[in-house]
Amino acid sequence: MMLLYEGKAKCVYKTEDPEVLRLEYKDEVTAGNGEKQDFMSGKGRLNNLISSDIFKYLKKNGVDSHFIERISDTEQKVMPVRIIPLEVVVRNFAAGSIVRRLGFTNGSSFTPPLVEFYYKEDALHDPILTEDHILKLDIATEAEIETLRTQALKVNKAMNEMMDQMGLKLVDFKIEYGKDKAGNFVLADEISPDTCRIWDKKTGENFDKDVYRNGTGSLIDKYTEFYEKMGAVK
Ligand code: UDP
Repeated sequence: MMLLYEGKAKCVYKTEDPEVLRLEYKDEVTAGNGEKQDFMSGKGRLNNLISSDIFKYLKKNGVDSHFIERISDTEQKVMPVRIIPLEVVVRNFAAGSIVRRLGFTNGSSFTPPLVEFYYKEDALHDPILTEDHILKLDIATEAEIETLRTQALKVNKAMNEMMDQMGLKLVDFKIEYGKDKAGNFVLADEISPDTCRIWDKKTGENFDKDVYRNGTGSLIDKYTEFYEKMGAVK
């Protein structure tokens, strides 16, 4: 079926049903806005399995998303939505850009969690946005920004509970939203160790893309281990 869009890690295809798209996860890994890029056999499968199971877990815990069903090792069916050009980041602990930019101590906690918005615009290197920027760019209204914040914190709560059952802590994550035909926000894209920072509660060991960003081990091994730990989730 027709390829609608090809991103860095996924392809989106039309299906014969206008209410259904097919997402295919690729064996690609990128970091730093595509500056670092590698082929990694088996990665698409792991991201698809993990992202599918996270969306299923969220659904069970009252958080809907675009996810319909997983149809193969590397593919899932999703609802068509118009993606809003925002990356919503929730941080429970300081790591990554907030440490580099603002000097927070790596691993220090944020209570309540911190919510940030970034402009999803590769050409501008996804800059951070204030709420006023979002209004001026006509990306969302004030009420919509509030809705996104509330929904992102709900995702955070459910994800924290899931990671806790796995003996892990959720440091931060990025999510994206789309709008359906009725204009409602729908949690979309993917949630996986590519889009989260995940540390072992006891050892601090990483189970996320930092392993690749920092070159500290085998991403496939870590994601496999993460997927195995998901077996403990109720
Ligand atoms: N993130 C992502 N895609 C992006 C930017 C960030 O999935 O384009 C995730 C990242 O993996 C981390 C969180 O969002 O879990 C916060 O990222 P941060 O702002 O610290 O940027 P980074 O250090 O990854 O450059």
